[in-house]
Amino acid sequence: MKNLKELLLNFVFPTTCLHCHSSEIEDRNLLCKLCISDLMLIQREGRCQKCFCESESGRICPLCRREFSYFHKMASLFDPYGPAQSLFQTLSNGYFPSLAKTFASFMLMQYEALKWRLPEIITYVPIPFYEKMKSAYSLTELLAKELGALSDCIVLSPQRIMGLQDKRILVIGGNIKSRETCEKIGEAFSKAAPSQLMLMAVMLQYFDVSSESACEASHLFQEA
Ligand SMILES: [Zn+2]
Ligand SMILES: [Zn+2]
Repeated sequence: MKNLKELLLNFVFPTTCLHCHSSEIEDRNLLCKLCISDLMLIQREGRCQKCFCESESGRICPLCRREFSYFHKMASLFDPYGPAQSLFQTLSNGYFPSLAKTFASFMLMQYEALKWRLPEIITYVPIPFYEKMKSAYSLTELLAKELGALSDCIVLSPQRIMGLQDKRILVIGGNIKSRETCEKIGEAFSKAAPSQLMLMAVMLQYFDVSSESACEASHLFQEA
C-alpha cells in the first residue's frame, strides 16, 4: 500500500528536477533551487520595442523599420531553452495544468515591466487539433483565462472577437517558432479591426522558418 502511495506521489510530483534531473529538490517543487534561480524573464533592455528580438540599439530593429507588422508590440517571457523550456514543455504535454497560473503570473510581471497599457480584451492563439489531443486542456486558452483572472480583463475566444472593432487586444501565445508564424497570427487577428494588437508569448523564436511553424498558423480560425 505504501509503495502504491509513493508511486502516486512520484507521478504527481517528480522526485528529481524536471530540467537537470538533480535529486536535490524540495518537496512539492518541480525544479531544483539552481534551476529556479535560472528562471529569469527576458529584460526589455537590448530588445526591439516592437518585435522584441535582440536589437543593439534597444529601439526598433532594422527589420521592423523596413517591414509592416500586424502586431504593434510583441514580447515573450523566456528564451526557448533551459529550465523555463522544460517547465513549459511539462505544461504543454498536459501535465500540471496548475503551471498555467505560474506562467500567467510571469506574463503579468512581464506586462508591467514593459509598461504596456492593459488590454481591453485578452484572446489566444488557437491550439491545433493534434496538439489538443496531447493534453486535457487547450494551453493558450488556459493561459489567457489565468491572465484574465489575475489582471481583471475580459477573455474572449478568437472567434468571439471577430465583429468587435477598435479594441486594444492582447493575444496570448505559447512557443511561437518563427516570425512568419507571428505575422500569420497577426494577420488573422487583424480581421477584428483592433485599435492595438499586442502579442505576449511564453517563447518567441524568430528565425526558425520550418514547415512545422508554417502549419502552426494554418489552422487559425478553421475550428468553431
Ligand atoms: Zn535543476
Ligand atoms: Zn523588431
